[in-house]
Amino acid sequence: MVMDRDEMQRKIDAIRERMADAAGRAGRATSEIALVGVSKFQPLPALYTALDCGIALFGENRVQEREEKAAAWTRGPAEWHMIGHLQRNKARRALQLFDCIESVDNLDLAAALDRILSEGEAKRYPIFLEVNTSGEETKNGVAPEQLFPLIDSVLERCPRLDVVGLMTIGPLTEDEDAVRRAFASLRVLAEGARERFGLPLQELSMGMSGDYEAAILEGSTIIRIGTGIFGARH
Ligand SMILES: *Cc1c(COP(=O)(O)O)cnc(C)c1O
Repeated sequence: MVMDRDEMQRKIDAIRERMADAAGRAGRATSEIALVGVSKFQPLPALYTALDCGIALFGENRVQEREEKAAAWTRGPAEWHMIGHLQRNKARRALQLFDCIESVDNLDLAAALDRILSEGEAKRYPIFLEVNTSGEETKNGVAPEQLFPLIDSVLERCPRLDVVGLMTIGPLTEDEDAVRRAFASLRVLAEGARERFGLPLQELSMGMSGDYEAAILEGSTIIRIGTGIFGARH
């Protein structure tokens, strides 16, 4: 059953309050931080409710699911970020269906995206590079020590890709210090990359329902919230 609008609005208001509080503690403006509603496995009516509650940016982790939602969509435009592992053979559809891909973690995929973009008008496309900051083997993302070589190659070989930021998933642990360390390491990597490559690299996509305050304290500019907004996934 889809949550009613009042209940979802209360959840979103509470998240925005906690975002503002965490931003305040970090001496940051809450306006610097975007909220992505992670709508994977949620039915369209739940997304429409979220739209009515002011969520205009959605995150999906599968091309197929995004495609089905796009085909059935009856509302006005929204913005869509790809946040899940992307196979090269779905790169073309991903470019059509998403405004931004946050989960690029290898040169083969980046090169495939760039090649497809080169067939069209000379428009640049925004991507994030996903980093595995926790070292957990089940997680996607480039290893931290491989990030700079990857950026180097993408800058050299993928002129149509605009590397706007870095993305990570926090470690699966209750240990708040370990979570903070993982997020801090992404911030430090971004600072290093800005200096080394002269990139703006403004965005840090980090923080989910269970750890977004820690992420904001470490400089997150985009938090990705699924269950915190929509409740359990179906
Ligand atoms: C599912 C998912 C989220 C949202 O997770 P919640 O814990 O439900 O907030 C965020 N980021 C990525 C990459 C995800 O796959």
